[in-house]
Amino acid sequence: MARNPKYDILFEPVTFGPKTMRNRFWQTSHCTGYGSDRPGTQARFRGMKAEGGWAVVCTEFCSIHPESDEYPWHSARLWDDGDVVNLRYLCDEVHRHRSLAGVQLWYNGMHSPCLESREVARGPSGLPSNVFPERCLYDAAADEDDIRAIIHMYVLAAKRAEQAGFDLVEVSGADSTLPMQFLERRYNRRSDRYGGSLANRARFYIEVMAALKQAVGDRLAVTTRFETDTINGECRIQHFDEGLHFVELMHSEGVCDLWAVKIGDYEEWGEDAGSSRFRKTNWMRPFVSHVKSIVGASVPVVSNGRFTSPDDMVTALRSGQCDVIGAARPSIADPFLPTKIAEGRVEDIRECIGCNICVSRMQQQALLSCTQNPTSGEEYRRGWHPEHFEPAADPCSVLVVGAGPAGMECAMVLGKRGYTVHLRDCAPELGGHWRDVARYPRCAEYGRLISYRQIQLEKLRNVEMHLGIPAMTADDVLQYGADKVVIATGAHWATDGLGAEVHRPVAGADAECAEVLTPEQIMSGKRVVGEKVVVLDGDGYFTGVAMAELLADQGKAVTLVTNMNMVAEFSKYTMEMPNNKRMLHEKGIRFLTNHWAHSFVPGRLRLFYLYRDSAGLYEVEPGRWGRRTSDELVDLECDALVLVTARVPNGALYADLKARRAEWQRHEVQAVYRIGDCHAPRQALNAIFDGHRLAREFESAHPQHPLPFIRERQLWGHSTIPQRGDLRPAVEPV
Ligand code: ADP
Ligand code: SF4
Repeated sequence: MARNPKYDILFEPVTFGPKTMRNRFWQTSHCTGYGSDRPGTQARFRGMKAEGGWAVVCTEFCSIHPESDEYPWHSARLWDDGDVVNLRYLCDEVHRHRSLAGVQLWYNGMHSPCLESREVARGPSGLPSNVFPERCLYDAAADEDDIRAIIHMYVLAAKRAEQAGFDLVEVSGADSTLPMQFLERRYNRRSDRYGGSLANRARFYIEVMAALKQAVGDRLAVTTRFETDTINGECRIQHFDEGLHFVELMHSEGVCDLWAVKIGDYEEWGEDAGSSRFRKTNWMRPFVSHVKSIVGASVPVVSNGRFTSPDDMVTALRSGQCDVIGAARPSIADPFLPTKIAEGRVEDIRECIGCNICVSRMQQQALLSCTQNPTSGEEYRRGWHPEHFEPAADPCSVLVVGAGPAGMECAMVLGKRGYTVHLRDCAPELGGHWRDVARYPRCAEYGRLISYRQIQLEKLRNVEMHLGIPAMTADDVLQYGADKVVIATGAHWATDGLGAEVHRPVAGADAECAEVLTPEQIMSGKRVVGEKVVVLDGDGYFTGVAMAELLADQGKAVTLVTNMNMVAEFSKYTMEMPNNKRMLHEKGIRFLTNHWAHSFVPGRLRLFYLYRDSAGLYEVEPGRWGRRTSDELVDLECDALVLVTARVPNGALYADLKARRAEWQRHEVQAVYRIGDCHAPRQALNAIFDGHRLAREFESAHPQHPLPFIRERQLWGHSTIPQRGDLRPAVEPV
């Protein structure tokens, strides 16, 4: 189909400094965990976005020097010629698709753990890091020689970037990096010309930009990513005050070819990577929209906002908010988003659901994966392309039982590969447990996980969907007539309080009773008796806090009890922790951490503190050593108990079929596989990955077992760059 003319503006070229981007789609710098140490994964992941139409594709944060070492978080690095070799492949892949490659130059001062390099970062005032207060991190206060040395580090990194083939260098003045540490009053205690007034505090940032302009600015664009408001009040950066005044100052120096603007700092990263539970599309607009009026027509502005709808993008452009649409997560969820708009296939866009699982992977010091796009990060190591599916040489018929995330994904990929698929579910609609999730408070955007797959499945003529059928038994499956069977029957919340803490049910907790409920029961309308409700959360992600909020909104007095150190502990990885806590506080939801349930009787939940036993180890009775155990208990008034303790696989159908393996041949069933939560109940991204992988590898010798993937690591016996004893270019003034 032809492109809708109202979207033409999105495909206009934009010039900044010496470069011109072919359209207005900019893949903002974002973390992956691939860094420069996984060059294949990095290059193919970024190259896929260029192929999908993003005119500029940037790296993640890229450390310019071993003094700014984020290990165990994996950043890109431009420390030496080895990094040049590895990042060159990224640039080649991006250029192959006519896009520009950008690298974000990063020096993190006091917040650099330096756990690999063991060097000491320099900073404005020699203060401890507030981002990692428990790690005993301090920067070394920089004198003017140090400042010149650091600026030289930026220049050397930019020169390496040019060698690698990058088209633009973006100075990170975001996420509390060094330029911000000089700019912010709270960090900058200096009394020299780099401290005091705004102009003085801005000097370092502006000098870095000026040095880069001078060194590479006629060949590479020199840009910055700047947070106009750190969203934490006075003494930091507020957009109507120092945020915009700084933009005026830097702009008047003429050292910045393009501004990418955002809000939030390292501590409040969740305001930049705003999750859909707390922030809706283009939430940063009030804080960033004035930048354009300061920098004028000749200097483009990039604005982010989890844009997935071309209409929202056009509105942002036409309103004068920005010239370029920046996106990290929408480009992860759908690298082909620009192409789909260009081809008039807007309904095919795999819209980001704003779950921040991608961020969580990085925060767990792991590798980026995406809930919506299971091919993310698999482009190189598994050779997966998000839009291309190898046609099956000899497609057979496949019955998929269960239309949750796993079953939908598997049926969709099998369908795209040419198999004849019957997707059957006893529920009247697609989506499995995710239908409930999308109705939790704040989780409406999660529903895109279902709607994207529904649209794709409905387009596939070789896929039939049978919903609202009686639950299938092993007899039904064997007699169905399919060549192969995939079981995707999901999981359910434990009805007896089984959880990870003690791996046993909680005495008296039985969801058959009126006073005990599971999330499924709440979502299907089971009445919550009484006033005082306890949510027992052993899951630690969004379900516990969602149930607590839902019931608080109904006027219940809610207490959330968890065995973990923090409420919704996993949300520290998704960057939702601060706002989860604010929400609980605002809604008067009390919480108790490091406790678990001992027993329940209507009216009273009895808890125990996880660390109630003695610290010392003693001879508790002759010959038997151990802790002195305590039977101390804490009672909570509790009219209704909500069990968010663990999920239990619906594994019976697969087990029945496996037990009847001898009958498969008689029924001409060649194979039975299981995927998703019925195999092991995990987060939705894993269920989707499971379904996707099985469908991609459906003809392998043992499809239930994944094929090996390429592992990127140094193979012994091959040389390294640098070698021990090599010289490092001097950065100190002589
Ligand atoms: P996953 O996350 O693994 O995809 P879900 O729990 O979301 O799993 O979805 C499982 C789906 O399987 C549910 O919609 C459920 O109605 C369906 N289902 C479970 N058992 C059967 C069965 N025996 N026959 C048909 N559908 C089933
Ligand atoms: Fe969006 Fe979630 Fe994918 Fe991240 S993981 S890109 S937030 S859908």
